[in-house]
Formats: sequence, C-alpha cells, structure tokens
Amino acid sequence: MFCPYCNSSQTKVLESRIYEDSMRRRRECIDCTSRFTTYEKATFNLKVCKKDGKIENYDFLKLMNCFVKACPRIEEKSAKELALNVQKKVLLKKSSQIQSAVIGKFVLCELKKFDKMGYLRFASIYKQIDDPKLLEKEMERIYWE
Ligand SMILES: [Zn+2]
Repeated sequence: MFCPYCNSSQTKVLESRIYEDSMRRRRECIDCTSRFTTYEKATFNLKVCKKDGKIENYDFLKLMNCFVKACPRIEEKSAKELALNVQKKVLLKKSSQIQSAVIGKFVLCELKKFDKMGYLRFASIYKQIDDPKLLEKEMERIYWE
C-alpha cells in the first residue's frame, strides 16, 4: 500500500471496519503523516467450464441468480448467503477451473436444505427431468432422504 501523497510504502492502519462486502481501513503515512482510506476486497480467478465446452469467467451474480430462479420469492440476503455457501465449497477445491455441473450440484445441495420446491424447480432444469414420473420419483426421494 502506497501513500497517495508521497508514494511511501510505510503506512500504518488506524482503524479497520467492515464496509458492505469489503474492509475499509483508515491509514496514516509514517513518512508524511497524511491520512487516507483504503478498501480491501478479496478477488480470485476462476473459470467455469460449461456443458457445451465453453469456458467463461466465474460470476457471483449468476450464481445468486440460480437461487432467485429456483425460489422467485427468495430475499436477496438469503440468495447471497446460499451463493456464498456454494462459493466457499467451490474455492475449497483450490482449482482455477470448475465444471458448471459441479457448481450445479452444490446449488442443489443448498436448495435441498433451504426450499424443497426450489430444489425441485432447479433439479428439473439442471437434471433436465422432463418426464413427470421421474420428477415424482425425485420428489419422493428428497422427502425421504
Ligand atoms: Zn506519505
């Protein structure tokens, strides 16, 4: 971290506070005593490999949208929380590339705990269940599991 006033790399943190999804820090330059604020946000590089072989950048909002599509009445806060749970599992794989099907499985796993109807809605798309009998079987399965 460089001081914006004198470009010194010697700064100290006066205060740290969580700000939305980042960390806000008040800093003071040890050389020129100027004060400034920095925002820290974790980033990572992750590619998603789709079923058709296309590769795209991982997108947290897209992940959140899976939950919104499956549960149209979900609150933004809950969708974010569920998506973060999935993201945690994805990052634990410590790989720079992940199959979209693996993410789909993690999404299903969260939905199963959160909302059975949402789970079925997502499962019918994700597993491409178009046979009502199969869907019935799936419903039975989740209620007994
Ligand atoms: Zn300075």
